Amino acid sequence: MALDVQAIRAQFPILSREVNGKPLVYLDNAATTQKPQAMIDALVSFYTECNSNVHRGAHALSDESTRRYEHARDVVAGFIGAASREEVIWTSGTTESINIVSKGMAQRLQAGDEVLVTEMEHHANLVTWQQACKAAGARLLVVPILANGALDADAFVTMLSEKTAFVAMPQVSNALGTVNPVRSLIKEVRARSPRALVLIDGAQGVAHGGVKVADLDCDFYAFSGHKMFGPTGVGVLWGRRALLAEWPVWLTGGEMIAEVSYQDATWGALPHRLEAGTPHISGAVGLAAAIEWFQTLDVADVQAHEKALLDRAVALGSEFKGLRLVGAAPEKIGVFSFVIEGTHPADIGFILDKQGVAIRTGDHCAQPLMKRLGLPGTARASFSVYNTLDEVDALFTALAKARDMLV
Ligand code: PMP
Repeated sequence: MALDVQAIRAQFPILSREVNGKPLVYLDNAATTQKPQAMIDALVSFYTECNSNVHRGAHALSDESTRRYEHARDVVAGFIGAASREEVIWTSGTTESINIVSKGMAQRLQAGDEVLVTEMEHHANLVTWQQACKAAGARLLVVPILANGALDADAFVTMLSEKTAFVAMPQVSNALGTVNPVRSLIKEVRARSPRALVLIDGAQGVAHGGVKVADLDCDFYAFSGHKMFGPTGVGVLWGRRALLAEWPVWLTGGEMIAEVSYQDATWGALPHRLEAGTPHISGAVGLAAAIEWFQTLDVADVQAHEKALLDRAVALGSEFKGLRLVGAAPEKIGVFSFVIEGTHPADIGFILDKQGVAIRTGDHCAQPLMKRLGLPGTARASFSVYNTLDEVDALFTALAKARDMLV
């Protein structure tokens, strides 16, 4: 059944506002998605009805906050198919989630070990591993992409060996929209590099639905709440329980300890051992509300709708004089990255904004990728469930104006 996009749009109050006197056409969803009323209501309800610190109060409000906060963990665990709620660690976002893993790995890596990342990495999943390798004297190997922006799966396989200690890769590239065949790539890792651990950067994958960590067979999965209809400042690190239970603690302080003396301390059990300090309670509650909202949609419908938006953009883009699509992998979702001959992406973004069309321009936190592609950056329109085919058309009407002004 097709999505009722107008009914979905009605649940996102921001989508009815104007920008520069024009109806907002929000096509910057890979940067952050907009928020449904159900998520906003959950935040308001938390702060108006039960705001309190969690786990430590001897009073009703704290009990209620704790209940909502820990329920949120259950919601995430169910959503990503975690084997247990203790495998869900709250973080501030994908970046922090990856840092927890990379800081721990920096202590485990030996000189001579190899870590694989890809050429399409966001800085969050590159700089972290580059620094971990530097600290440990390990080698960072970068798996190339093909001309169409797909990962070179053959190269990936040949770069795996007994020396491979870690593999980090994105489920979906934020700059190109490439969907990586992570399940089959992980099978290769398991066959060729028995001691390697695998982290999937799910920042751009999770909001398209259907992620089940057990199916992927990864060891860690990282994502941000704000890219899937939730609040900023909250995210998730999922990891296999046995790994997380012994993972080096990265922050020390309250909440994460078992016993403390002046000279020593022992760490508490999962999930709290990796969650020092007062958490982003409302963030977790808001993210759970966002997920529960998203779960009212049919995943196949969501994916079909997003594919229709991308197909329309690709079709209109192929007829648009001077436009070159950047990243045309056969498996691609939600991201239309492009350059227009004779123009700079920043100028395109500026002129589109004047017409109410919000896109992102620049290097998309993927400087080495842009260098590899020989581009200063791209203009990127990225789609979500609430976008319409008319909005894709509006993008191209605005682009035609921009081209007329600039070329
Ligand atoms: N990885 C990818 C693929 C991303 O798109 C992003 C956000 N643009 C991140 C990591 C980092 O996410 P955050 O800034 O929410 O930590």
